[in-house]
Amino acid sequence: MHLEKLQAIVLSTTDYGDSDRIAALFTLEQGRLNGFARGARNSRKRFGPALETFARIDLQLAYKDGLSSLRQADVITVYPGIRGDLACIAHALYACELIECFTPEAQPLPRLFRLLVVYLDRLNSGHVDDIDRRFFEVNLLNILGYRPSLESCSRCGSVFAGSGALMQQGGELVCRLCAASGRHITAPVLQGVLSCLSTSRFGAVQLSGDELLQAGILLDEAVAAHSGRKLKTLEFLRQSVG
Ligand SMILES: [Zn+2]
Repeated sequence: MHLEKLQAIVLSTTDYGDSDRIAALFTLEQGRLNGFARGARNSRKRFGPALETFARIDLQLAYKDGLSSLRQADVITVYPGIRGDLACIAHALYACELIECFTPEAQPLPRLFRLLVVYLDRLNSGHVDDIDRRFFEVNLLNILGYRPSLESCSRCGSVFAGSGALMQQGGELVCRLCAASGRHITAPVLQGVLSCLSTSRFGAVQLSGDELLQAGILLDEAVAAHSGRKLKTLEFLRQSVG
């Protein structure tokens, strides 16, 4: 058996048997992994609020016979500012589900870990905007290699000029010579989404209402194409923002 100290965000938890719980964790050091929390349901004292979804924790994992067990978990923050607001909760849960759905197990993704932490910090301070959600999504897709080609046609490689692009199924972006139809995505929208990748700061990119709507349609399509399943938190997110 060996012990390891890790920084983590709790993505979700599942009850196991009468007294135990399994926590899906996104760790800085090792990416996503599952931790077995023995006795977590019987005794709240054992882990306290450390196993709340989207809590940020320091933990100690013990590895034995292919099983990783939580030995100790110390809360850095449960993000109380998020928990008092329904829209903030919905965005935080959605971000956690995206990470859980999109990331491979046991692959360190430190940039993605920092992106999630900064996003949760921002939600915790009361900032809940659609542009932040889109900023998070496109950076997540980019880090994992899933983002649509925003600069040039994915089929012929010609650079998108002022006329923008036509969106195909799965969020694929092509030029007017390569497709006769498709949803038009304007050049300022492509530029705006690209800017979300070049700046590392939430709040730095501004889009008009219509541009944000187009960016949302594009990213919803790209997320749906790569997630491979319906995201459980998406309906709650849509309801919470009205
Ligand atoms: Zn083309």
